[in-house]
Amino acid sequence: MQFSQKSREHIESCRFCWMCHHICPIGNATGLERNTARARALGLSLVARDAIEYTDDIIDNVYECSLCGGCVQDCTTGWDPVLFTKEARLGAALDGKLPAYVQKMLQNLQEKGNVYGADKNPNIPVLEDSETVFFLGEDVRAKGCAKNAVELLKKAGVKFALLKDEPNSGYSMDFLVGAAAETKAVMENCAKALSGYKKIICYDPADAKVMLREYKEWGIELNAEVVTFTAFVAELIQSGALKVKKSDKKLTPQDSPLLARDLEEIQPIRDILSACGEVSEMLLFGKDTMLAGHLIMNEYLPAVMKKVAENRWENAKNMDATTVVTESPAEYLMLKATQPEGMEVVTVEEAVLACL
Ligand code: SF4
Ligand code: SF4
Repeated sequence: MQFSQKSREHIESCRFCWMCHHICPIGNATGLERNTARARALGLSLVARDAIEYTDDIIDNVYECSLCGGCVQDCTTGWDPVLFTKEARLGAALDGKLPAYVQKMLQNLQEKGNVYGADKNPNIPVLEDSETVFFLGEDVRAKGCAKNAVELLKKAGVKFALLKDEPNSGYSMDFLVGAAAETKAVMENCAKALSGYKKIICYDPADAKVMLREYKEWGIELNAEVVTFTAFVAELIQSGALKVKKSDKKLTPQDSPLLARDLEEIQPIRDILSACGEVSEMLLFGKDTMLAGHLIMNEYLPAVMKKVAENRWENAKNMDATTVVTESPAEYLMLKATQPEGMEVVTVEEAVLACL
């Protein structure tokens, strides 16, 4: 497969470097050298030079990265394994070499509108007639529940629409095949479907990330202002629309890598939690956060994802945290599934609702 000159430079720089191996949530979960940025770069450098074929094993290795950006954040010399990993996924798609588990998810997306192949969630209400849309996203609609988030916005007097046929934002396509024409088409379809709104509140950081970054990068116009749910709730508290009573509860934020690193949004969750109780940080927070779970990867690497979540619980436990508060539905669901005794995970909206 062909790599761009830029990706080749990053691959060449990473392939003999060991510096960021400790920061990778996947490498830490598996304990395998193949899951370091360095090992991935070494394999891809051989493919880029046509020294070896782009084999199934190397392609699997490319899908063992969560694109969390921990290595990018840690790299003092500015190299970017996410860049070449995404390009390698696009290359696998263009060469017709996508693994069966990826093909299955893409088929699900085409047939059901989500990579999980889930039917429409009957518990999600439909609300119309507003200039603001509450965009729940693929993970919540397929696997979760937004009842508490909806309740919180209603309590604050926010008028918003919840779509019957919410379009897919394109995050999962971007994750699975990167900058393919098909990814852009999904994003353009989403932008068109949302063109009548003035504000989009993204519940899932994954949707906010693509709308605020990839849409802009690829020239896809969104007429509406995009805000994350966390930032929106922080504003509601600051404006007095939500009146919270401070408790003596210790609350520990789990920064979503998508918010903390990709969108550089770190403060809103702390503003919310300091209004509700005492903020207590865990090991690796803010931009240095560690991924706690990924639902797409959980489809094909469930044991690894379970270990990723368990490791994050260890980080929390080591700092005597008792209540971990998540911003991302994927991390909430993965932490909930692995919650140790004596500790709890709650969503931002649950933390606020408990203090009203
Ligand atoms: S991202 Fe930086 S620290 Fe990590 S392997 Fe590449 S060059 Fe080394
Ligand atoms: S992006 Fe995340 S999962 Fe991928 S190699 Fe870097 S730290 Fe590991």
